Amino acid sequence: MIEPGKSEPAKCPTCGKPATQTHRPFCCKRCADVDLHRWLAGVYAVPAVEDDDEDGDAQNSGPSPGER
Ligand SMILES: [Zn+2]
Repeated sequence: MIEPGKSEPAKCPTCGKPATQTHRPFCCKRCADVDLHRWLAGVYAVPAVEDDDEDGDAQNSGPSPGER
């Protein structure tokens, strides 16, 4: 059971320390930077992927070879 009135202190996703008001949800600017860089690196590391799992009707796009 989760009590809605009681909010547990957020932890810094980078190092796990309690987050501060200034740098929420991180504990410090450095951790925020680290997470940002990690996120950016992840974005740029992933090549252009066709995400066709958003809707199942993605098969209409693209040329259909010799079916018609
Ligand atoms: Zn931190």
